[in-house]
Amino acid sequence: MTEPEKLLKESKTGWEGIKKEQKEEIFSYCANYMEFLNKAKTEREIIKNAKELAVQKGFKNINEYDTLKAGDKVYYNNRNKSMYLAIIGQENIEKGIHIIGSHADSPRLDLKPNPLYEDSGYAYFKTHYYGGIKKYQWTAIPLAIHGIIVKPNGEKIEVVIGEEETDPIFTITDLLPHLATEQMERKLKEGIKGEELNLLIGSMPCESKKGVDSVKCNIMSILNEKYGITEMDFVSSELEIVPAFRTRSMGLDNSMIAGYGQDDKVCVYTSLTALLAIEQPKTTAVCIISDKEEIGSMGNTGMESHVFDTFLSEILNKLGINRPNLIDKIFCNSKMLSADVDAGYDPIYASAYEKNNAGFLGKGIGLNKYTGARGKTGASDANAEFVAEIRNIFETANISYEFAELGRVDLGGGGTIAYILANKGIDVIDCGVPVLSMHAPYEVTSKFDVYEAYRAYSAFWKA
Ligand code: MN
Ligand code: MN
Repeated sequence: MTEPEKLLKESKTGWEGIKKEQKEEIFSYCANYMEFLNKAKTEREIIKNAKELAVQKGFKNINEYDTLKAGDKVYYNNRNKSMYLAIIGQENIEKGIHIIGSHADSPRLDLKPNPLYEDSGYAYFKTHYYGGIKKYQWTAIPLAIHGIIVKPNGEKIEVVIGEEETDPIFTITDLLPHLATEQMERKLKEGIKGEELNLLIGSMPCESKKGVDSVKCNIMSILNEKYGITEMDFVSSELEIVPAFRTRSMGLDNSMIAGYGQDDKVCVYTSLTALLAIEQPKTTAVCIISDKEEIGSMGNTGMESHVFDTFLSEILNKLGINRPNLIDKIFCNSKMLSADVDAGYDPIYASAYEKNNAGFLGKGIGLNKYTGARGKTGASDANAEFVAEIRNIFETANISYEFAELGRVDLGGGGTIAYILANKGIDVIDCGVPVLSMHAPYEVTSKFDVYEAYRAYSAFWKA
């Protein structure tokens, strides 16, 4: 008879019985990850830093190759906001490719096209939030401005204000509790309304222009001096308001990481570094860093665009094997991990989860067979056969993993880029790091899970 401990699913924290060297390895990997997050808070900054790391490891822009062969490392930079990387495998690419796809964008506040105004002696930027946020979380915290302004002549000005110790920061004010009787009666959802998310950026009048809009004018003259822009130039800008805090090690035991944008930059970093550590894969390894996931993956940098297919077609052209429908055949033979974060079980909000099917911090990488909402609607639902294959890969490589659902049935739900690739015929499963306070300005992960994600992605590409 099989012993009971073999019959029942084991469920223990990954830290249990961990060796000193393993712990050191995890902590040093995570120190690099935290450093990466502090350099890259926006999708553009992610792509810039990812490209630098890839180039250091011998990746070249696909345009620099006339022909491709096994072992070649290529990337395609899609408008500085999304990126695809590939290492050509030894096996015939017609047998399929192995993809890991994450997203570089995170919830934030974007400046409106006409953002600048003055009211009662204060200058403000009007914002429009990007992605699913709890608006009240974005008041009374230090905020930074990151992004670009492009002039009609094509000149591109990069802006980062609020990251250096000597930089000013910005904030969105909240009402003092003494006068908040009415505000406190609002529903949490409306606690702070969209049109109240106005960034306070100045209060000093202009010397040369007295009266109406004098503070606004002073702000514009500061910006003109620093960047050579006028108010009209905001219309062709992408300026993002992100938390000004740094990513830090968290907990007295330093076991966790608190930082902005870990959804989904944690999967960007872990998959990218896993790819960069591979020399010669058997199957062609492809890494997707997509954009616009938080607002539905639309647009030419989102996963719904055909730019990824174009990149693959270009690979087939340069391998000299392309023919009609080959790309569709390859998709049907391919496998993918949709690398996106998962809701970590939070005991403070226990009723939002179903404990048997929740992802816990510290138990390794979290897999979701399906996401969706209300009866799995919108989910791609991985096939049992494919789930078994992934289990086999992870068990062979001794990876800690757990299977979860996104919260309690009928409570809410969500999606990732998984279904978009699954619709092409690829076998896809969601596989990422569990996060606490997802979509908040400060998100929490476990160092154990971050390193386990790196190991899991490596194992998938090496399999
Ligand atoms: Mn995500
Ligand atoms: Mn998200």
